[in-house]
Amino acid sequence: MTAPINLLDLTPAEALGRLDDYMTATGEPAYRAAQVVRELWEKPAADFAEMTALPLSLRSALADRFAIPRLETIARQLSTDGTEKFLFRLPDGQEIETVAIPESGRLTLCISSQAGCALQCAFCATGRMGFQRNLAAWEIAAQVREMALLDPPTRVTNVVFMGMGEPMMNWSAVDRALTILNSPEGLGIGARHITVSTVGVLPGIIALGARPEQFRLAISIHAPSDELRRELMPVNVKYPLADVLAQAKLFDRRVTFEYVMLGGVNDAPEHASQLAALARSCRAFVNLIPLHEGGALEFTGTPPQRISSFARALREAGVEVALRKSRGRDIAAACGQLRVERLGRGVPRRPDQHSEVNVA
Ligand code: SF4
Repeated sequence: MTAPINLLDLTPAEALGRLDDYMTATGEPAYRAAQVVRELWEKPAADFAEMTALPLSLRSALADRFAIPRLETIARQLSTDGTEKFLFRLPDGQEIETVAIPESGRLTLCISSQAGCALQCAFCATGRMGFQRNLAAWEIAAQVREMALLDPPTRVTNVVFMGMGEPMMNWSAVDRALTILNSPEGLGIGARHITVSTVGVLPGIIALGARPEQFRLAISIHAPSDELRRELMPVNVKYPLADVLAQAKLFDRRVTFEYVMLGGVNDAPEHASQLAALARSCRAFVNLIPLHEGGALEFTGTPPQRISSFARALREAGVEVALRKSRGRDIAAACGQLRVERLGRGVPRRPDQHSEVNVA
């Protein structure tokens, strides 16, 4: 017997094609195919048994031929600021994290693209785990799908690829996942509400720029000189700043620079003026990110006042800046932290055991 076809790993158009063929071959009415596709992403059903608009016999026949796998929720933590973190187990036992961040009527989901990461940025908990494997397209998109399957369902309005892994090192799956996220027959999230964040993997930036949709690009700069950046981010040896910036200039949409504030490391006034020059050269918007301590034991965050003066220096140099609020401090919401903590602790929380911990 052939293995069931995973409908979630196909784009909605491909899934429709497969199901159309199946309905024709089995003498079912053609409209049944579109009916099933609607329940993959738009109004997701947990499994074929839940597709109650279909006759029972068809549901069980579909379950023999096709699969719609789930991610298993093995831990779930709710912060006092409303940020919620999920630890999902993949079918082969790998674990990934997803963080849901509510803010002014939006819900941004920070999703993972790899289990672990090979890039070893000095301040990152995920980097310390090492690389386990790339996620399949469905495992990336299913992080959003699982939100719609919660009780009550949660509607995701924005997606950022800022969880575990470097998305551009898994471009073929990310490429397909972007189609599923954006397609009206998929999750229907507008391209301008989907941001792919990279440390500067050039082939990935080129590939994202070649897509016709207006997906957004964020580049993790984190250090405004090659010397410092090489220390913090080994990837800078392969993709030095000058090359990354040259590519950012060619990207036809506005780019965001991400800059994590590391106390005494990259937060001096000269760093602000170097960063301002880089941002101006690319007309980039700068996001300053307070460090999530706990994920990076050997670093301390820049104090809030110093972050404000760093931001002021950038603004005075003509750069648009946002200070990202640190969300979910009490639940270790930076990428990789929950998994690292859990591996250290050994005892997972049950999915129904939300933790309410006061923000320090
Ligand atoms: S910051 Fe991103 S690219 Fe760097 S090690 Fe962590 S997950 Fe990988």
